[in-house]
Amino acid sequence: MIDLHLHLDGSLAIEDFKFLAEKNGVHLGNDFPNNIYVPNGCRSLEEYLERFDLPLSLMQDEFSIAYATKSLVDRLYKLGYIYAEIRFAPQLHTKKGMSQEDAVISVLSGLKSALKDKKDFDANIILCCMRQADYLTNKETIELGIKYKNSKVVAVDLAGPEAYLTGDNYCSLFNLAQASGTNITIHAGEACGSEEVLMAVDLLHAKRVGHGVHLNLTRENIRKMVEKRISFEFCPTSNLQTTSLPDYEHVPFLDFDKVGIPVTINSDNMTVSNTDVIKEYRHLFGVYKFKKYELKHFLTNSVNAAFISQEEKNKLLTLLDKKLDWFYNKVIDR
Ligand SMILES: [Zn+2]
Repeated sequence: MIDLHLHLDGSLAIEDFKFLAEKNGVHLGNDFPNNIYVPNGCRSLEEYLERFDLPLSLMQDEFSIAYATKSLVDRLYKLGYIYAEIRFAPQLHTKKGMSQEDAVISVLSGLKSALKDKKDFDANIILCCMRQADYLTNKETIELGIKYKNSKVVAVDLAGPEAYLTGDNYCSLFNLAQASGTNITIHAGEACGSEEVLMAVDLLHAKRVGHGVHLNLTRENIRKMVEKRISFEFCPTSNLQTTSLPDYEHVPFLDFDKVGIPVTINSDNMTVSNTDVIKEYRHLFGVYKFKKYELKHFLTNSVNAAFISQEEKNKLLTLLDKKLDWFYNKVIDR
């Protein structure tokens, strides 16, 4: 499997919570582990985002964030993934004195130590700016994205509550990233509508859109997305939980696909949403009963949208062929 939209802080394992809470002297709460998952009847993206406070409180020093990264990569490998892009916001890890750069260096060290003994698997890092942060804090994130772009940081992102400030407020930041040749993906069209997706693509130079499910598929919008070769990172379960979409039947992945806009299927947050990419495809299979070649088509979209070189993509395509039967059997739960 391949996951291009996966948040580190939303994907901490239960055992990691326990270990890091003990180490950091944090009380996990009387209703642990129920309080790490999105609550039933969650009403909004804002309520969903509250679930990140506890895991973030456990990852405020170099050891803990490196440990969490290694643990996540180890789990992805065990699940049979072949590639992942893990994202996090370095600015959310500075409450106890770590700098944003310390956080990036620690995540990279956790990643490298996890990758050391793994064959047929790779992972890279995406750095998130936050919508609610001030300009200078986000600028520091962008500059780190630029500084580490040849050291397994492959892109920068804009995350956080979409309704807070619209995309046009972040132009100068993403102009910097664009000018340096750093890849850009933007959370847009999740809680808000089509206009946020257009801002991400037109003003923030996004090559990929995180979610984007509310893009109106007008002739003009389709033309723009196809011409600019924009790929979409759908995260179905997360969208249901934030009430962005009502159910799996309304995940518009076939509508996008039909008009030639590449869609990828991702998990968003493995713990908060209690999911992974295999489960996401399984949910969609429950509705659409797609065939093996269709699974291959969407996973090929993920390879093509990955922020890696063509040579690395070719290697992934070969691996995908090798593991496709196994992936398909997992999805149809055989
Ligand atoms: Zn996300």
